[in-house]
Amino acid sequence: MRAPPPVNLLGLDRPALALFMRELGEKEYRAAQVFRRLHRGDEDPFADLPERLRSQLRGETVFSEPPLAADLLARDGTRKLLFSAGEDKIDSVLIPQGKRLTLCVSTQAGCPLACRFCLTGKQGFSQNLSAAQIVGQLRVASRLAFPRRVTNVVMMGMGEPLLNLPALLPALRVMTDSIGFALPPRRVTVSTAGVVPAMKILREGAKCALAVSLHAASDSLRDELMPINRKYPLAQLMEECREHIRDSRRDFVTMEYVMLKGINDGAACARDLARLVRGLRCKINLIPFNVFSGAEFLPSPPENILQFRDSLMKSGLTVTIRQTRGEDILAACGQLAGEVREGRKVFPMQKETREEAR
Ligand code: SAH
Repeated sequence: MRAPPPVNLLGLDRPALALFMRELGEKEYRAAQVFRRLHRGDEDPFADLPERLRSQLRGETVFSEPPLAADLLARDGTRKLLFSAGEDKIDSVLIPQGKRLTLCVSTQAGCPLACRFCLTGKQGFSQNLSAAQIVGQLRVASRLAFPRRVTNVVMMGMGEPLLNLPALLPALRVMTDSIGFALPPRRVTVSTAGVVPAMKILREGAKCALAVSLHAASDSLRDELMPINRKYPLAQLMEECREHIRDSRRDFVTMEYVMLKGINDGAACARDLARLVRGLRCKINLIPFNVFSGAEFLPSPPENILQFRDSLMKSGLTVTIRQTRGEDILAACGQLAGEVREGRKVFPMQKETREEAR
């Protein structure tokens, strides 16, 4: 009989690590000893353990990160990390913004949801990432960012996080554990295109902030832009958002709305949107559309975006406009495609970016 493959400790939350120790016949407090050192980035996470247990863990476990394949710096300071995940490449993006340093993390290689305005969606789905690969992105990024600390995490990289709950939930627990990465739950945001049944599981299973990729306020338009809406239409999605807020620990839902010229950026759409979210504690985040080659849509002109914002604000809504970051290295929303062919980057890179990246 072959030995089972080693367990990657990076993907185990504290309860899972405690269970693992118990199965080895060890006391549960050993789990906290290993967990604390592991996520603090100590060289030897087994330093507190007796020699016998140490050598057993060295044989049966690993703590391996996804290998870094490229590290690109944009002119605005945004930094894109490209990791290998088997045959695929996945991206994480580090976004400095004043005191904040946000890491945008991928949860899948590719994405099955096929939203029409999203480059990742155009690629199709390749694989779910493991909890260790999700946590690993934060671990590597934290090390590279040092001495700055990653203050926020957004699950807004490649993939639909809620189609990968078995990896997402433990990864969220490791990130928010007080002796793990110790990120405050409201600084870890899961963004979903609206996988309604999984939203309920997320609400019950993890502490985090919620963002919903809304993008249209009527079913007829949303059906066209986001095929997932045909399965879980707006009424169900909005009901689930209301449930989310009923929990007193959560203060609001972020509604993301990508601005597509002549499609969803007119006065009637603004009225529909205000009506749809009436009574829901939410913040609306307008996202300028990032164009990619082969895109079917055009970005709304800035004056349309401002008009749209003003109209929503007149209805009493809180609205922000997302600043587009890292466009020159294709690190902006909806531009993550992670692909590398024959070890060469296929994205056009500016000369200075290449130099800065060294
Ligand atoms: N699947 C999840 C997580 C991805 S988050 C979700 O849909 O929420 C990425 C965000 O960028 C989503 O709000 C997505 O709709 C948006 N986006 C996708 N393509 C975009 C583009 N070309 N320009 C701007 N935003 C885009």
